[in-house]
Amino acid sequence: MAGNAPKVGVLALQGDVREHLAVLGALGADAVPVRRPSELAEVAGLVLPGGESSVIDKLSRLFGMREPVRERIAAGMPVYGTCAGLIMLADSVLDGIAGQQNFGGLDVAVRRNAFGNQNDSFETDLDVPALGEPPVHAVFIRAPVVESVGANATVLASLPDGRIVAVEQGNLLGTSFHPEVTGEHRFHARFLDRVRATS
Ligand code: GLN
Repeated sequence: MAGNAPKVGVLALQGDVREHLAVLGALGADAVPVRRPSELAEVAGLVLPGGESSVIDKLSRLFGMREPVRERIAAGMPVYGTCAGLIMLADSVLDGIAGQQNFGGLDVAVRRNAFGNQNDSFETDLDVPALGEPPVHAVFIRAPVVESVGANATVLASLPDGRIVAVEQGNLLGTSFHPEVTGEHRFHARFLDRVRATS
């Protein structure tokens, strides 16, 4: 690994951690699982994986990670959240379980499991103007949608019906879908660009 490879973490409490580590490694990053505050302190950026946000929330509190992650987000650490990770990153969560908390930071409201039982998993090609061509092959698995975007956040992608599924705010990036399972590397590359710019 090159000496200037950014050291980044994947929050490894629950979810598809391995897939994110593989994409980040393929892009030349020194990517490590992060479970403890001491491990978080070592990384210059963090990916919040897909999985189940209510479980990631509970485990993050159990492992003493909630406040350290919130502090790093507030201090400007680049973070990329996919699906449950986007839910963790949103300032406001709709349809969470009772008592569900999140890290926050991203000025959006996100609704969990927004596609309902009939259509809870699907794939589609998505135009993401900020990434150019080709379109992103997006896999949605019991995915959230971004219901509203505050003044600080910008929309990166929407479905043809207008539902927002990718957003960005400074060093924070969130997608409803899972680029880490389709060989799509451009979102992770964008995250790593932010890490290199800030570290
Ligand atoms: N439905 C899950 C949640 O609420 C997210 C699903 C996913 O990450 N694929 O956290």
